[in-house]
Amino acid sequence: MTYAEKLKDPRWQKKRLSILNRDGWRCRDCGDGSKTLHIHHCHYAKGAPWDTPDDLLLTLCASCHEYRQPLEDEARQLFAVICANCPDINGLVGSMRHLSIQKRPTLFLYNDDQMVAQSAHIEKLCKAGQL
Ligand SMILES: [Zn+2]
Repeated sequence: MTYAEKLKDPRWQKKRLSILNRDGWRCRDCGDGSKTLHIHHCHYAKGAPWDTPDDLLLTLCASCHEYRQPLEDEARQLFAVICANCPDINGLVGSMRHLSIQKRPTLFLYNDDQMVAQSAHIEKLCKAGQL
């Protein structure tokens, strides 16, 4: 089954509707409910699209989706660099579901529910041996 075919599968259609309902049929980034809405995958897990946990799916309008995707890709690269340079960070970082994007790529690290660092500080903390 191709990815395009998977998106036509009733299991994805059902999942998509549940996410749209959860988000009130509005873009989670700008709040607009009048534009075309997409379901954004914050992280592509293995398996079918409908197996993605709900907390990794976000309703976004077409323009916010287009804006967010390259920022997330950039943040993932930053994340990979940080992890490569800070072996001890692995115990601190959960999965990519903890990656939040604002207007520029900003990486927030959470230890359970508590934010412990964001990207502007991560490099300093790494150098200081605190991460
Ligand atoms: Zn939007």
